[in-house]
Amino acid sequence: MKIDLRSDTFTKPTPGMLDAIARAEVGDDVFGEDPSVNELESRMASLFGMEAALFCPTGTMSNQVAIKVHTRPGDEVICEQQAHVYIYEGGGIAFHSGSQVKALAGNRGRITADQVVSAINPDDVHKARTSLVCLENTSNRGGGSCYNWDDILAVKQVCQINGLALHLDGARLFNALVATGQTARQYGQTFDSISVCFNKGMGCPIGSVLIGNRDFIRQARRVRKVFGGGMRQAGFMAAAAIYALDHHIDRLAEDHQHAREIAALLATKEFIGTILPVETNLVIFEVKGRYTAATLVDTLKHYDIHSLAISPTQIRMVTHLDITRAMTDRLLQVLNEL
Ligand SMILES: *Cc1c(COP(=O)(O)O)cnc(C)c1O
Repeated sequence: MKIDLRSDTFTKPTPGMLDAIARAEVGDDVFGEDPSVNELESRMASLFGMEAALFCPTGTMSNQVAIKVHTRPGDEVICEQQAHVYIYEGGGIAFHSGSQVKALAGNRGRITADQVVSAINPDDVHKARTSLVCLENTSNRGGGSCYNWDDILAVKQVCQINGLALHLDGARLFNALVATGQTARQYGQTFDSISVCFNKGMGCPIGSVLIGNRDFIRQARRVRKVFGGGMRQAGFMAAAAIYALDHHIDRLAEDHQHAREIAALLATKEFIGTILPVETNLVIFEVKGRYTAATLVDTLKHYDIHSLAISPTQIRMVTHLDITRAMTDRLLQVLNEL
C-alpha cells in the first residue's frame, strides 16, 4: 500500500469526478462560451458573495495575475517572509509586476496589523510606493496555520486607512473554513481578491479560481491572456472543480483528524523535536537524535511511506483525499514501531 504524504497536490480524480469530467459540456472559454467554466466562475463568485471570478490553470497564475492587477512597476508588496507568492513563485512578483517585496517575519506564516502599519512606506520619493498586502490562509510554511478572524479584520482596517489593496492567497482556504467555521462570505466581504486552489486536497488535476469585483476580474482576464492562460475547452477541468465543490469540502475534516492523530503519535517519539501545532492537514516536525530528516524519510520509504524533508531537520507530512483511514492506521503503526 503506497502512502504518499508528500503533498496534497498528489490527489487524483475519484471515479465520480472522472465521470463529471467526461460528461462536461464545453465550449471555447476565450470566447466566453464554455458553460462549465462559466458555471464554476459564477458559483465561486456567489459562494464568496463577490461579483465575478476567473478560472486559472494554477494557483501561482491566480496569485500573480492578482498582484499584476493590484500593482504598478516600482511598487512594494507586503507579505510574510515565507509566503508562497514570495518564495515559491519563481520571483514572479519581480518578473511579472516589476514590484518588490517587503517580507515580514510572522508567527507561523501569519502577520499582524501592527506589523503591516510599520511596513508601509511614507509618501517619499526615496521609497517604493506600498500598494498591496498579501495574506496566506492557511499558511503553507506555517504548517497549515489559520488566521483568527479579528486579526484579518485588523489588517483590512489598516489597508483601508492607507489605501492598500488586500489579496488572499487562499490555496487551502477551504481547509481554513472547515477548521475554523469561518465563512466564504466573510472573506468575500473583506478581501479585494482571493485565489483558491482546486489542485490541492480537492482532488482536481489542475485549477484555481481568482475571485474579485467585476472591474478587477475584467482586468485579470486580460492579464491571464497575456500570461498565456487563456484556455479553450477548459470546462473539462472546471467540471472537476464543480464536482469538488459538491463532494470534497466537508470531508477535509477527515484529513484534519488524520493529521492530528499523526502529530499526537509523533509527540511520543524521542527522535521527534518540535511539532508545529496542527490546525489543518499539514504536519511539520523536527527530527533529532537517531535520525536526520533525510534518514527518517529514507527509512519510511522502505515501508512505501513517502514524506518530504523540507530542511535538514524538518519533515512535512500532508493528509488529503487519497490518504484513507487504513493508510493513516498503517502510518501510525509503522511510526510507533520505529
Ligand atoms: C500550492 C500553493 C499555491 C499554488 O500552487 P500551484 O501549484 O501553482 O497551483 C499558492 N499558494 C500556496 C500557499 C500554495 O500552497
